[in-house]
Amino acid sequence: MTVYERKSALGGKARSMDVPGSARGGRRPLPGEHGFRFIPGFYHNLPDTLRRIPFPGNANGCHDNLVPSTEVMLARIGREDIRIPFGSIGTPPPVLTPDAFLRVLTAFFETFSHLPAHEIAHFAGRLLVWFTSCERRRTEVWERVPWFDFTRAARMSANYRQLLAIGITRNIVATKAEVASTKTVSTCVEAFLFNALGRGADGEPDRVLNAPTNEAWINPWLAHLTSLGVEFRTGWEVADLTLDDGRITEAVLRDASGARRTVTADHFVSAMPVEHARRTWNARVRAADPRLARCDRLETDWMTGIQFYLTEPTPVIHGHINHIDSPWSITAVSQAQYWSGRNFRADYGDGTVADCLSVDVSEWDRPGILYGKTARQCTREEVAREVWAQMKAGLNDTGRTVLSDAKLHSWFLDPAVELDGTRASNDEQLLIHPTGTWYHRPEARTAIPNLYLAGDYVAVDIDLATMEGANASARAAVNALLDEEGSAAERCAITPLYRAPEFEALKRQDEIRHRLGLRNVFDLG
Ligand SMILES: Cc1cc2nc3c(=O)[nH]c(=O)nc-3n(C[C@H](O)[C@H](O)[C@H](O)COP(=O)(O)OP(=O)(O)OC[C@H]3O[C@@H](n4cnc5c(N)ncnc54)[C@H](O)[C@@H]3O)c2cc1C
Repeated sequence: MTVYERKSALGGKARSMDVPGSARGGRRPLPGEHGFRFIPGFYHNLPDTLRRIPFPGNANGCHDNLVPSTEVMLARIGREDIRIPFGSIGTPPPVLTPDAFLRVLTAFFETFSHLPAHEIAHFAGRLLVWFTSCERRRTEVWERVPWFDFTRAARMSANYRQLLAIGITRNIVATKAEVASTKTVSTCVEAFLFNALGRGADGEPDRVLNAPTNEAWINPWLAHLTSLGVEFRTGWEVADLTLDDGRITEAVLRDASGARRTVTADHFVSAMPVEHARRTWNARVRAADPRLARCDRLETDWMTGIQFYLTEPTPVIHGHINHIDSPWSITAVSQAQYWSGRNFRADYGDGTVADCLSVDVSEWDRPGILYGKTARQCTREEVAREVWAQMKAGLNDTGRTVLSDAKLHSWFLDPAVELDGTRASNDEQLLIHPTGTWYHRPEARTAIPNLYLAGDYVAVDIDLATMEGANASARAAVNALLDEEGSAAERCAITPLYRAPEFEALKRQDEIRHRLGLRNVFDLG
């Protein structure tokens, strides 16, 4: 098997990357990344792959490089942040100092004092509707309803809208609540809730890797695949597919020198993001599988990482921070605290950097607080200053200086993004999930017998553009290939999301109600 990758590095959006020119004195370059890697416990397929990648000293391969977090923070601007500790199997509970205790309680009561009891009850009721909706209603009805409408956010308080309607979607699913598919958001919320309740999970709700992603996962994976006979060609870009007699006979590529090359094979797995893959489907290919044209309706948007390198360890919290009030929908995590086998100052950069605050920016079209410009209208420098300012607004507003300018060493913005204040482009976007997206997502098996699709846009159970979705789709593509070959080889296991047995009877009833044109029994309108 040969993998052709257009970039000089493998690993796609999941990879970490060196910050150019940042290494001194024999240290490794500062670790940058497209965006931080969050691997929740409800993922099953990616964790299975991690388990099967050998890693020196680890009984469970790269899976042992996952580290659970013990808390999550919703950082508010101008009011106490909401800090929610959660227990974690096999790890010590978060340290509850008197200060931490008071802060948790203050945030808890503040949140609830700002959320009227009837709104909380309403939200819980809406979730019950989802949990007891049959699969057909989920696909046929809830896929068409925006999350904002499903949660009745327009009728609720500003706090409800910010916390439960907008924050959940924009910051996590990278899709605007007003258009985000209820099926996609609710599937994700359901998975998180079951995970938090310890149901059907591979591990704790929030997990990250214990080193930069390439060190903890991608490099060992490449070594393992190479040992199994896989060849990698980097700098080769797929441009076209040649169809003859109903089958793909060759892929047309440009190699690293820009020269046109053709590659023949028995089978072709197209493992590119949808906005790149669809450019390689010419009219003949599309005619052979008219369903491919539906992928033209899939939308991508900007969600991009920026890392801030700090001269002091700055753990903030032991988990992810969701800057729920930030106009640019910022989420962040402090990484050094998880990298137990690394000494940041000794291992990376110029010896003065002690931490990396890795940040995702999910909203690029709303004006910021420093320049009044959207992220797309900014220069790279302005984006960095603006993100830093928005994080300080969320973290330094309750009497403490969590982020200080004096400790900021440098920053690194994903090079896939090009910004000069007038023009903006992003070569590595992310699939978003407005209503109806599900109907346009393809299967891994196409109507062309030897062409298969893998990637986060392929329709899989998780229904959210993630590494887990990409992994599940790749398994489906391999199984389709084995079926096509009539192979006796064992098929890849594809583990669906957990479904609670307690709700199955209610879902069966709901199926009957749905067929009769009736609402879900808990859907009171
Ligand atoms: C900022 C950000 C943060 C994220 N955080 C998380 C997270 O915490 N957890 C999570 O599960 N998911 C996360 N995701 C989503 C996740 O990164 C993607 O869903 C996942 O990487 C998709 O994998 P893929 O293989 O489909 O595509 P990609 O990872 O994009 O890989 C596709 C590869 O195809 C290559 N390619 C493209 N065109 C061509 C061509 N013409 N010829 C040859 N090669 C080509 C690309 O260079 C790339 O290497 C995040 C995404 C973003 C944008």
